[in-house]
Amino acid sequence: MNDLSTYIPEMIETRRYLHRIPEIAWTEFLTSELVIKRVRELGFKTIIGKALFNEEYAYGREDSVIEEAQKRALSMGMDPKLLEEMQGYTGCMAIWETGRVGPVTAFRFDMDCIAVEENHDETNEAFVGGFDSTFPGLMHACGHDGHTAMGLAFARWIKDHADSLKGTIKLVFQPAEEGTKGASGIAESGLLDDVDYFIGGHVGMDPKLHELGIITKGFLSTTKINVSYTGKPAHAGAAGQEGRNALMAACSASMQIMGIARHGQGNTAVNIGTLHAGEGRNVVPVHAKMELEVRGANDKICKYMQERALKMIRGSAESYEVGCDIKIMGRATNVVSDPEMCNLIREIATAVPGINRVFDYDTITSSEDCSLLIQKVQSHGGKAVFFYYGCNHNGHHKSDFEIQDTESLPLGFAVFVGALKKTNGQ
Ligand SMILES: [Zn+2]
Repeated sequence: MNDLSTYIPEMIETRRYLHRIPEIAWTEFLTSELVIKRVRELGFKTIIGKALFNEEYAYGREDSVIEEAQKRALSMGMDPKLLEEMQGYTGCMAIWETGRVGPVTAFRFDMDCIAVEENHDETNEAFVGGFDSTFPGLMHACGHDGHTAMGLAFARWIKDHADSLKGTIKLVFQPAEEGTKGASGIAESGLLDDVDYFIGGHVGMDPKLHELGIITKGFLSTTKINVSYTGKPAHAGAAGQEGRNALMAACSASMQIMGIARHGQGNTAVNIGTLHAGEGRNVVPVHAKMELEVRGANDKICKYMQERALKMIRGSAESYEVGCDIKIMGRATNVVSDPEMCNLIREIATAVPGINRVFDYDTITSSEDCSLLIQKVQSHGGKAVFFYYGCNHNGHHKSDFEIQDTESLPLGFAVFVGALKKTNGQ
């Protein structure tokens, strides 16, 4: 049996390589190449390309962005055959079948980055370590590079310890977590329908380095929506009556949506994040585009927010006689972890040397699309849990986000290995 520490150097090296090439939602081609090649080498069966998703639920994909990323990947030496095999879809499910009767256990590792320019100075541990981002405007500012690297270390551990395991292990390398775009298509793919146990983890948030927080319940259910209004142009002074004003429709909808009455049974939030409209000072605005999101303490409350918002969006289109196109860009739900899985993680984490504090952590202000994978597994009676292994950071999604990889990742890794030994050890 190999000691866990033998897996750490490769994990850190992989994390730092990925940190240099951060890829945003649905463009994780280089990251996926690394993952797919590594797990295939180790002997895992892989599911990639369209087979990994129910395409109808693969939200927020922008063809031009994906095509650009494919070109960049090729120019950086990506294997064109593999790129073709991926059919424009990033991500990978790596499956290990032990051949022995036992449970199906799935683990999720997300892969995408944030659109933020990393600090290239000595305030940033990645710069100091010489592994800061080489892609302008993009940064692994949420630690998903660490998650992917840990998933690969975990894959190697599974291969090395296959004789001591039973059942089936599914490692979900999920693209496009940011904006809650990627999980939904995987949840609806059918690939999790046989999963008995599901475990998801994330670095950071409230737990500090050497701490671990178990999400007993938490996260906000959310829907991300893009709206595009199309009006009719006219000379604003000479023939205003002939125009149909898309900008006014968007403004009217925005004001109404921000004023949706709050739900009495739980938290809600709403934000119009962007609004771009108009062509020129003296032209009745023809185009207006809005990006917004609604959130709620659970699916019912989120649905209430979504339905009210959609009514206002459509109502404003009607009032101003403009066309209106609505696209759902992402979705996540709330999480209620199963008590027995929380106990399992609590027991394991408490025994990991270096983890000094384990606590129940109810985060209600953010969203995480792993929630949809958890909901899917629970919907057929499977058991699931989500936890955070801590690090000392200055805030997720910020240009100086850091995770102290050599300290934080090994602790999370030990918990994943410990959990698998409990669920699938023989
Ligand atoms: Zn994240």
